Amino acid sequence: MLRLRIGLDIDGVVADSFPVFIRELNKHYGKDITELKTYNMTDIYGVEWDEMSQFFHDNMEYLFSAPKPMPGAVEGINDLVESGHEIVYVTARAPGAEEILTCKWFDDNKIYRNETFFTGGLSKKFAVKENEIDIFVDDFMTNALEVASLGVPVLLMDSPYNQGKLPQGVSRCYCWDDILCQINQFIRSKSHSGLPRSSCSR
Ligand SMILES: [Mg+2]
Repeated sequence: MLRLRIGLDIDGVVADSFPVFIRELNKHYGKDITELKTYNMTDIYGVEWDEMSQFFHDNMEYLFSAPKPMPGAVEGINDLVESGHEIVYVTARAPGAEEILTCKWFDDNKIYRNETFFTGGLSKKFAVKENEIDIFVDDFMTNALEVASLGVPVLLMDSPYNQGKLPQGVSRCYCWDDILCQINQFIRSKSHSGLPRSSCSR
């Protein structure tokens, strides 16, 4: 069977971070936001990035430890590893303090982890290319576009902030069962170009 190097984003794919971020930002800024319609949280909360960045810095330990794994992520990742695939995490989180908390979160939640790359907000394109990733899963459209431009197929985890037309090479996925289903479809259709459209039941 074909063995893949599967790249996974962390926030919004493996860690269900945004419900915790929104809850804490609502408390801090006295808002009642229920979902992120855009990925740009500074626009939603009407604050400058410097200020929001300070909030994340001051509350980093809680914000990076409280999220639960995305439903089905732990089992899905185990399933991929047991099938012989390699998992490579590529996150925009920063090396250093964020890295330490992230590694602790994986340990605390008993999630398989081997290779992990912290881009610190830089484009994920370079890590994806250097690490010869075969297929990538992310929830942020900009990352999807950049990675797809390398010719690496991307599964975009469906979210309120990533609606709209998908670029070539990007396929929408809806849950971890769907990710597994589409990866298996990709393996079967490897001789064809690009990703097949999802025909997975959800
Ligand atoms: Mg993400």
